[in-house]
Amino acid sequence: MQSLKVKCPTCNAPVPWVAEEKYRPFCSSRCQRIDFGDWATESFTISDDIHANSDDEPSIY
Ligand SMILES: [Zn+2]
Repeated sequence: MQSLKVKCPTCNAPVPWVAEEKYRPFCSSRCQRIDFGDWATESFTISDDIHANSDDEPSIY
């Protein structure tokens, strides 16, 4: 049986289309959440922190 692979819509990483990949078609829960719309708040918040609040606690996840 040949394993089907899809590309993660978020980062284009190849993802095997198997039951074990519970986040498919995403490669990870992170990419899934990003596609759900969290990226809008998450990435913009990180960018803001880096540029505007460099003296504050850096947001590293
Ligand atoms: Zn991904």
